[in-house]
Amino acid sequence: MNPPAQSPSSPPAPKNVVLLGSTGSIGTSTLKVVADMPDRLRLVGLAAGRNADQLALQARQCRPLALSIADPAQAQALQDQLGPGIPVYSGPQGLVRLATLPEADIVLVAIVGTAGLEPALAAIRAGKDLAIASKEILVMAGEIVMAEARRHGTRILAVDSEHSAIFQCLDGKPGQSVRRLWLTASGGPFRTIPRSEFRGITPERALRHPSWTMGPKITIDSATLFNKGLEMIEARWLFDIDIDRVQVVVHPQSIVHSLVEFIDGSILAQLSTPDMCLPIQYALTYPDRVGSHRVQTPLPALGTLTFEEPDPDRFPALNLARQAARIAGTAPAVLNAANEIAVAAFSARQLRFDQISDLVADAIGAHSPVSSPSLEEILAADQWARQFARQYRPA
Ligand code: NDP
Repeated sequence: MNPPAQSPSSPPAPKNVVLLGSTGSIGTSTLKVVADMPDRLRLVGLAAGRNADQLALQARQCRPLALSIADPAQAQALQDQLGPGIPVYSGPQGLVRLATLPEADIVLVAIVGTAGLEPALAAIRAGKDLAIASKEILVMAGEIVMAEARRHGTRILAVDSEHSAIFQCLDGKPGQSVRRLWLTASGGPFRTIPRSEFRGITPERALRHPSWTMGPKITIDSATLFNKGLEMIEARWLFDIDIDRVQVVVHPQSIVHSLVEFIDGSILAQLSTPDMCLPIQYALTYPDRVGSHRVQTPLPALGTLTFEEPDPDRFPALNLARQAARIAGTAPAVLNAANEIAVAAFSARQLRFDQISDLVADAIGAHSPVSSPSLEEILAADQWARQFARQYRPA
């Protein structure tokens, strides 16, 4: 889209944002960020899965140019309710229509699961910048997504707080100047619990995260540390770095969001009170830093910040993610899909907490990986892993 001509003194026109997953945890935080700075950001498209009531409320509040919802019947009901002024699309095609809206400058994908991949690629091909919260996109198809972004000259901006922190610390420094990336992990609610107790962990306990309020899938992934494993693979692609130079350190206070260790031994970190509004704002307003009082970090009140090694015996997810990233090709898609089904089975009390990683390990072991896969081969591996996981019977 060509921006309107401006005189040197006039403020920039607001960036037009499409938000996929507007009713979720990241989605609702994004609405707050946009409401904070109406002169900088404008929501032009909103998409949700099933929560039609909340989407209708958001549409009345933001007056976007178009909406999308997963189910066509809900889309029709929403269209009747809102009138013809705002077209309501549905299904996977609806997400692609929103992601390619001619008016959109940037598309933020915050859909849980794999439904964000196709619209993300469509946005890149339509020349939109892409802000990625849905780590599944880069875990499954990082090679393809980053190659498409290079081809179309679009930016990929991290919304995950860890990757936003690394992006801010790198600040354009070349890859050769980096020794290692350090992703911080809170350690989740079971950081100090012995493995012998893992068998009895309930979904309710796993959903009580000590420092972040997030959607249910990522909260359980934070308890198993699969979230950190997925983030390792996400970092490998976002920053074009070998997986063995991506490390994890446990930092229970969740104040240091991640660190970059440079080749001269210097380590830069980004700190703040944990609040997703900050990385969301940075991704949407990049390359500018825009004033906001929403996140305050009273350093003296924080007291001590601590760091410790993750325990690979109690949390096998980190080594499984590293293994999948080293195998590469379709292996990370299998890790992601098998974990998603395992989390759903655990939430439905059909699988124990400690069996989530057993299932994922067995899926990776049983998979015949395809190297440099096409999108179709990635999606086939995803389906294979889901099938494997659904038929899984724990030893
Ligand atoms: P939530 O479960 O809170 O929200 C998920 C969102 O996805 C909802 O808006 C849901 O709609 C929507 N959705 C689900 N399926 C579809 C579909 N088929 N079409 C359109 N929309 C759909 O998740 P989070 O916000 O926590 O996480 C979203 C993504 O961001 C995940 O990939 C997560 O890993 C990542 N992330 C989250 C962080 C957080 O702090 N929460 C931090 C960093 C990354 P509905 O509710 O209407 O069904």
